[in-house]
Parts: sequence; C-alpha cells; structure tokens
Amino acid sequence: MSKRKTYTLRFILELLVVFSVIITFLIGVISSIRVNTSSLAANYLENNFHYAKKLSSNTTEVLSSMQNTLNALAVRSARQTVTHTDLQDWFAANKQFFHSIFIADTTGTILQMAPSIKGIESGTHLTSPAAKEALFLKKPVISKPYIGVTGRLIVLISAPIVNPQGEYKGFVAGSIFLEEPNVLSRMLSQHFYGDGSYMYVVDRDGRLIFHPDKARLGESVAMNPAIQKALAGESGYAEIVNSRGTSFFAGYTYEHITGWGIVSQTPTSRLDVSNQQLLQNLLATALPFLLINIIIVWLFAKHISTSLSNLALFSGDSVKSASPDGIPTTTSKIYEVQKLYQSTRLAMRQVNKRMLKLQTEVRIDELTRLFNRRMFNSTLSDRIKNKTPFSLIMLDIDHFKKINDTYGHVMGDEVLKLVAQTMLEQTREEDLCFRYGGEEFAVLIHDESQQLAYHIAERIRLSVAALEIPTHTKITLSLGIANFPLHGCNPIQLVACADLALYHSKEQGRNQTTLHPSDKSEGMQG
Ligand code: GH3
Ligand code: MG
Ligand code: MG
Repeated sequence: MSKRKTYTLRFILELLVVFSVIITFLIGVISSIRVNTSSLAANYLENNFHYAKKLSSNTTEVLSSMQNTLNALAVRSARQTVTHTDLQDWFAANKQFFHSIFIADTTGTILQMAPSIKGIESGTHLTSPAAKEALFLKKPVISKPYIGVTGRLIVLISAPIVNPQGEYKGFVAGSIFLEEPNVLSRMLSQHFYGDGSYMYVVDRDGRLIFHPDKARLGESVAMNPAIQKALAGESGYAEIVNSRGTSFFAGYTYEHITGWGIVSQTPTSRLDVSNQQLLQNLLATALPFLLINIIIVWLFAKHISTSLSNLALFSGDSVKSASPDGIPTTTSKIYEVQKLYQSTRLAMRQVNKRMLKLQTEVRIDELTRLFNRRMFNSTLSDRIKNKTPFSLIMLDIDHFKKINDTYGHVMGDEVLKLVAQTMLEQTREEDLCFRYGGEEFAVLIHDESQQLAYHIAERIRLSVAALEIPTHTKITLSLGIANFPLHGCNPIQLVACADLALYHSKEQGRNQTTLHPSDKSEGMQG
C-alpha cells in the first residue's frame, strides 16, 4: 500500500503566506500599472497637444516676423535702389532666418542676391513654382516646399515690391533650405524630450517639411490620422498608429498663416519603460516586507508546530507505554493549542486510569481479590527462571460442594472470601497468595526452607478450621507442599508434586498438611 504524502503544518502555513503575499503583491502591481498607464497616457496626450499648440504659435510669430522683414525690404527697394552691399547688410542682419535673400523684377529675373549661390546670380531667370506664385499673386506668399535649381528643398517667403505710385515692381524673397539647419529646425528641435518624443511639421499637402529624420523631408504623410485632422484645421490629441505601424500619443495643431500641420508625439512603448521602472520600485519596496512576513510566519508556525508535535509525540509514547508520567505543559498563548493540551491531559489521565484498572483486573481474582491463575502461572515461571528457591503450598477446601449444596452458592462465595482473607492474614508480606481455581488455592513461600512452608500451611489450616462462618459449621482444608528446586524444575512438575501431596492429605482423612517427600524412597510427610 502506498504511503500517503503528508506535509508539516509549518510548511503549509509558509506556503499559504508566500502565496497570499505574492497574490497581494500581484494585485498591487496590476492596479498600480493600470493607474500608471492611464495617467501617463493622459499626460502624454495633453503635453503633446500643448507643445504642438505652443510651437504653432511660435512658428506663427517667427514667420510673421520674417514676413515683416521682407516687407520692410520690399518697401525700401520700391523707394530706392538697393545695392548689392545693402542687400548683404540685410542678409547679415537676418541670416538666422534666411539662407538667402534676393530681389526679383516683374519678369522673375534676379536683380540682387545675397549671399551668392552657385548657379543663381543677378540676371538668372527664376522658374520655380514659388517664384511664379509670387509673381502671379503679387502679394506676400509663403510657398510650398519645392526642389530648387541647386537640388535643395526650399520654402520661399516673399513680399511684393509696389512703388509709391502703386505699380508692381517684382518681389523680395528669402529662402529657407529645409535640409540644412534653419530657423524652424532650431525652434522645433528644442522640443525633443529625450524620451522618444519628437515634433514634425507638414505643409498643406501633408508633405514633411520638418522632421528629426532629414531623409524623410518631402515625404507625404497625408494618410496619418493626426495630420488629416490638423490639415482640416483641427487641434487636439489622439492615440495614433503612424505610417510605419508605430503607435504614438500625438498632439496636433494647425498653423493658420502657412496652413501647415504641426504634430508632437511620444511612442506608446514609452509606457513599457515607465511600467518596468514602476515594477522595479514596487519589488524593491515589497521584497523586505515579504521577507519580514515570511520570517514572522515561520516563527509563528514553528511555535505552533513545536507545541503540537510535542503533544503528538507524547500521546504516541504514552499510549504505547501506558505511562501517566510526564504529561507536557505548554507556554503557548494560542487558545486552540492550550485547549488541545488541556483535553489531551484529561484524556491521558482517564486512559491511564483505565489501563491501571485493566492491568489489575488482568492479575486479580474478582471474588477473593487474591492473585488469579494467570498471575500464578507467570509468577511461578519467573521464580523458576530466576532460580529463587521457594515452596508451593496447594490447598483445597474439604467437602466444599456440600456447603454449596446445603447453603447455596452465595454462601459458598462467602466462604471462599473468608478462606482467602485468612490466607492473607497468615502469610508474610513476601509470600504470594493465589486462587488457583474453584475452591483450590496456592501460596508461594519466599524461602528455601520446607519447614517454614509447612509451618505457614499449618497456620492457615488451623486458622481456617477455627473460623466462625455464617453457616455455624466448620470448614477444613487439605494442603500439599512441594519445593523448588527440590521437587521439580518446571511449573508442571512442581504443581503435580504439590497436588500429589494435597491428595495424600485428602486420602489420609482431610484437614491436614502433607510435605512432598524429598526423594522417591521417602513417603509423604504429614
Ligand atoms: P473434596 O473434599 O474432595 O475437595 O470435596 P469437594 O466437594 O470440596 O470437591 P468437589 O471438587 O467435588 O467440589 C468443588 C465444588 O466447588 C464444586 C463447585 O460447584 C464449587 N465451586 C467451584 N467454584 C466455585 C465458586 O466460585 N463459588 C461457589 N460457590 N462454588 C464453587
Ligand atoms: Mg477441589
Ligand atoms: Mg474440595
């Protein structure tokens, strides 16, 4: 049969506490991460929206100021001729805004240019869509980005030249090379947060005119949902997935002078980093508590299980040995443990009491209270085994059947009790009296002398014969004595010899004691 697996109380308690602490910790972690995620997401969305709006207004301011600069130059060139040196001075004063400044006439031919750029000089005829738009509209224009003759991606800001008579004389323009450091990139790149967040700007057609990745300039991102909203003139925020499948918290806005869309965004994967940090912090905070908890429960479990296992050990031992000694006490303050100890103590006392009673009943004859036949057999064997010399007196009540028949069995029992009582009175403390069976008794005389045994047997016989019994008749005994080791070396031989002597007493007329002869040649001695 397979043994069923058992676990100690300590192990189970520890397992329970570790389990509950881990579950509590997990619940804490999950709810903290949820709160962190939703509050961070809301923060990122709002921050990006505010950045986009701020940049939109900054862009408006910068572009207005650039436009004003060009307007002022246009006014001056309408009134007087602007020399090359003059234009160079203008450029020097505004080079943080423009990569180049030029003046063109009504045919789109460059009159003055600063600084000189390879391939473009005075007399060059402009064919770019931005130049054509400026000539066509005859008003301030901020162009769409276009590829210039030098192969650069350019935004052109222009102002019309109108003379005091109101005649259109051409335009003044400043160009921004989008792929080179420029006024927009200087302003926008201040808004990288170093956490993966970045800004980008698209023109009216949804093409990138500012992006941290310069290789993407000119690329169309019109399908981006944030861009679509921004170009529709809306401002707001949303969680979006960009053209490359990356998810972002995006804030978007519309720049009204240019019609550009400005987007500030943070990758949603940023949350994972933050949640990871949160998890690490929670772990660092919770681990010491977890350890303290485990230690406390370990001590507590040790305390309980030591008390209980002491009790279990004691119960096992005391049941085996039937010993009432050493019932343990406990110092435990735990109510159930105390109760268990109390009831165990009570149960053990009762068990021991019953055990003692049983032990007595197993050895004592119920009627006469002398030792019984079982005790006679074991004592005789022990004495022989120990080689202690002793004499065995066997005695039988004469004509006992007559008492039963005449006065009844109750009276017979009374007589048996009286005989037993007399036996106890007439023997010494070290001699043992037994009821051998029916109306037959035995005495073990703790002495090697047969004469002493004979003397004691006679004392019993005479005392019984002198007894006043309720029937007002006399009772007599017949006795036989055998000696160890003289007459036998085992219980059967000894009992047989004592019996033989007893029957000799019966045969000789009863009411007498017979000593078994020391050797076969001798006759029985009465
Ligand atoms: P003898 O002198 O030859 O010994 O004659 P006896 O009558 O004593 O012997 P017998 O063996 O014929 O009778 C013994 C009687 O003892 C028979 C039985 O009923 C009676 N007896 C045995 N045990 C008890 C007992 O516990 N109580 C009573 N009242 N009688 C018992
Ligand atoms: Mg008999
Ligand atoms: Mg008899």
